[in-house]
Amino acid sequence: MTEVWPMGTHRNDVGEIVVGEVSVAELAHSYGTPLYVYDETTLRSAMRGWQDALSSRLPHSRAVYAGKAFLCTAIAEIVAEEGLGLDCVSDGELFVGLNAGVPPHLLSLHGNNKGRNELEMALEAKIGKIIVDNFNEIDLLEELTAEHDEPMTVLLRLNPGVDVHTHRKISTGVADSKFGLPISDGQAERAVAKLVNIPGVRLAGYHAHVGSQLFDTDAHTGAISDMLAFAAKMRVSYGVELEIFSPGGGFGISYLDQDTPLDPAHWIETIASTIEAGCAENGLPLPMVIIEPGRAIAGPAGIAVYTLGARKQLDGIRTYVSVDGGMADNIRPALYDARYTAEIANRDGSGGPHETVTIAGKYCESGDLLIEDIDLPVSHEGDLLAIPAAGAYCLAMASNYNMSLKPAVALVNNGSTRLIRRRESFADLIRLDITRAHQE
Ligand SMILES: *Cc1c(COP(=O)(O)O)cnc(C)c1O
Repeated sequence: MTEVWPMGTHRNDVGEIVVGEVSVAELAHSYGTPLYVYDETTLRSAMRGWQDALSSRLPHSRAVYAGKAFLCTAIAEIVAEEGLGLDCVSDGELFVGLNAGVPPHLLSLHGNNKGRNELEMALEAKIGKIIVDNFNEIDLLEELTAEHDEPMTVLLRLNPGVDVHTHRKISTGVADSKFGLPISDGQAERAVAKLVNIPGVRLAGYHAHVGSQLFDTDAHTGAISDMLAFAAKMRVSYGVELEIFSPGGGFGISYLDQDTPLDPAHWIETIASTIEAGCAENGLPLPMVIIEPGRAIAGPAGIAVYTLGARKQLDGIRTYVSVDGGMADNIRPALYDARYTAEIANRDGSGGPHETVTIAGKYCESGDLLIEDIDLPVSHEGDLLAIPAAGAYCLAMASNYNMSLKPAVALVNNGSTRLIRRRESFADLIRLDITRAHQE
């Protein structure tokens, strides 16, 4: 099948989609739907692909998986086995990473409003680095590190103010952004001036993450040049050596057959040569380079599987076919106008009649549509629908809207299957509720 599907995805001789050498129909039968399936081979080869592309071009470097794309214990264990770092944006993500055995020095903590508890947890666990975002955080760090002997390594998150060609809600390095401190108005420099005077922290360099689902390198190259010029200025003014430099993640993937993402080698070549040129121009030695792919690692490895249910034909308008999931497990279409493709997974209808339908979720919002106007073989209630490229930012943003049960997650690998998260139960829905009986 096409590139949007996990590696090796094909149809077996009865026409069922097979991922990781396991039939999707069989998985749906075992675990129910909605179901998310990750192919371990695709996941690991994406991790290796980024890691190898980076280390073959820049020996002093590290690929770090941005866990917010999708994190659970099994994924964190694979990250650790592959030797990647893990980027966290909350104490919860730190907990999952630490609990899964990711070495603390490979963890980093991001966030535009890190709480005292989150910083304390990071300091206590002696994680690799904290990416400082704002002045409140600098004051908190000063206070919290006062008693620590070993200084905490920090990077300063810069807002380079570059324009990004992606959806507004996933642009993070534009001038008007809640992330990082602007270089242009002097705030970033003020942060450096404060950080160098705090004995409990060691400012080792700079970070920016300019946006997500990017199909060109312009935002990265623009940001890198501005950041390196800033780094050189800070070296002269405050003696801060540039040891670590991170242009973040944001590497786009294919959701639709016509999408044209750049491959890791292309991204890395552009990033590396821009960093080399910027360092040469500014008289800086080459720093350790960290990249932070999230979507590009988890996205292509995962598919969502639904069962088709109610059909509603509105004459002259459209035909809605509803699935047993929707915005509670994948809010991206509603949030970002994200577009997906899909195929009937339990039989190959490609030779038969087709129709144009809109795939609706089952939740109580008119906007809960997963795919508008897709051409599919004529389907029946009970058919399975598989959506590819569903591995990132779907389950990670899942909710219990309408008291829905969050889906199970299966990991397939070369013919074997492992359930890595069970489906929620009704008991899970009320496990945090406190009744009068508890209080008496
Ligand atoms: C979200 C995020 C990433 C990952 O972004 P992708 O688009 O999934 O690659 C990397 N770094 C930071 C700081 C982030 O917030």
